[in-house]
Amino acid sequence: MCGIVGYIGHRNAWDVIIKGLHRLEYRGYDSAGVALMNGDIKTYKKAGKVSDLENFAHDLDKSGSVGMGHTRWATHGAPSDRNSHPHYSGDGRLSIIHNGIIENYAVLKEALQLKGHEFRSDTDTEVLIHLIEEIQNSDGLELFEAVRVALHEVVGAYAIVVMSNEDPDVLIAARKGSPMVIGVGQDEYFIASDASPIVEYTKNVIYLKDNQIAYIKRDELVIKSTDNRIQTPYIQELELKLEMLEKGGFDHFMLKEIYEQPRSIKDCMRGRIYPNEGKIQLGGLNEYTEKLKNVDRIIIIACGTSWHAGLVAEYLIEEYGRVPVEVEYASEFRYRNPIISEKDIVIAISQSGETADTMAAIEMAKEKGATIFGVCNVVGSSIPRITHAGVYTHAGPEIGVASTKAFTAQVTVLTLIAFFIAEKRGTIKQSELVHLLTELEDVPGLVEKCLEANDHIVQIAEELKDSRNCLFLGRGTGFPVALEGALKLKEISYIHAEGYPAAEMKHGPIALIDEDMPVVVIATKNSSYEKVISNIQEVKARKGTVIAIVTEGDKDVTKMADYTIEIPNANEAFLPLLATVPLQLLSYHIAVMRGCNVDQPRNLAKSVTVE
Ligand code: GLU
Repeated sequence: MCGIVGYIGHRNAWDVIIKGLHRLEYRGYDSAGVALMNGDIKTYKKAGKVSDLENFAHDLDKSGSVGMGHTRWATHGAPSDRNSHPHYSGDGRLSIIHNGIIENYAVLKEALQLKGHEFRSDTDTEVLIHLIEEIQNSDGLELFEAVRVALHEVVGAYAIVVMSNEDPDVLIAARKGSPMVIGVGQDEYFIASDASPIVEYTKNVIYLKDNQIAYIKRDELVIKSTDNRIQTPYIQELELKLEMLEKGGFDHFMLKEIYEQPRSIKDCMRGRIYPNEGKIQLGGLNEYTEKLKNVDRIIIIACGTSWHAGLVAEYLIEEYGRVPVEVEYASEFRYRNPIISEKDIVIAISQSGETADTMAAIEMAKEKGATIFGVCNVVGSSIPRITHAGVYTHAGPEIGVASTKAFTAQVTVLTLIAFFIAEKRGTIKQSELVHLLTELEDVPGLVEKCLEANDHIVQIAEELKDSRNCLFLGRGTGFPVALEGALKLKEISYIHAEGYPAAEMKHGPIALIDEDMPVVVIATKNSSYEKVISNIQEVKARKGTVIAIVTEGDKDVTKMADYTIEIPNANEAFLPLLATVPLQLLSYHIAVMRGCNVDQPRNLAKSVTVE
């Protein structure tokens, strides 16, 4: 994870870097640091947030027009001043920032220690800069060559920037498995983990590819592969807009992103559904029509919230497309020896498009001959580049670490994929598809209505904010919604929460229910309504507090529940898109009331680029 920023040009590098690090803080925020070329390399680093670093460096000289900065999510070594990046070589000549993990750092470190290297931190990163120093000293190589050669000895994932006192007007950048974008300005270059620190300076960017290494001066950019072949850079224009990266009057990015959902769901459907004709247009998947007709099985791989979106897709693809679906945690799938055939289709879901476990699982399934589709949000990220085809969710940048609009956009895309498969396989009647698509078109408006419950949800949050535990129950597509509701609550408010299929409650969790246990139940009017009512009665009989998400106008559940939140009536297929919204708001308000850092919850980072 972690965010990296580099700058070389004519501006004050500190200002560009600090602003960029704030934008990237969603990627990691346990410590931060900057190196500036000012005569020689000056390093400023501190445990804590980027703002702590700013306070620390407030009165210090921060001039220089070449520099690099890092906001860390520790993998090796506790968050501390000492372990913060940048790290430097033994002689202090070289400096590095790094995103990723050097997996063979222990072996390399031992060998370097035998040669007399002494280390100042517990990180894997420091080992790499000592390795570069060792190669320069023993082989007399120029900086670029020394970095290139060193990378051959490294196992693992990295995006790095390196500076040297001996080449004060040069930055070296390289990547393998961790993202890196280079912004191209007028006699200036920007380097960053994503385009957000770059967008206000230039729209022209190059997405560095795996195993590429860049030599960057103010007026020169050379990219080579790590096996020393010249690469032709492909400059593309950013679609990102600056206002997408700002809070726009909301207290938190998470709240802004919750409120963006009517628009993001609409954006996600734009140009893809034609209700009158009962048609779905998913450009990327069109050429796989034959494959979809003959597919034996669909395997969905994902992590975290994306895995919940995958569960929704399992219900919908099986219901409408009549294809068996398995939903797998990417981290488990990649380390098993799963049975995969050439007739399987794998759908990989990742907001960032950089999730390390998902990427590794894709590579494995690809090797075994499966066809891979990607469902990602970040355009130009790594997963869309390694899949055969895919569908972007177009939710726009999601900055709050707890996923909200990216989840509903994933569910929207997967719903479209389910209908697309059904249409191609002829497992749905045309009239039903017309009907479903017509309703789907109304969903953004219905989400808008869900948001109107906000004030009422604030009152419920007030009642629940001191709870220590919470259960979330649902059936059918309400089950993944329950899982997602529980995840949101635990990740931003630190209240222990579990999601269960409602009927599973009596196989264990019911033992936990007493007057101190709030139970959130998805109890909308659908095929399992009566059964959910029985589950609510079981909770009430044990004095649990019931908060029910109900269909507007509901009478039966409303009589039993302690609190209800109404959502508009809609087809069962679209329940997840609606029922998730009040749960997002509930978690948000509880977390705010508990004084938690909603946008940057402890120990988390947004794009999980380490396994
Ligand atoms: N592995 C490095 C560390 O622990 C970098 C982690 C990151 O990507 O933030 O310092």
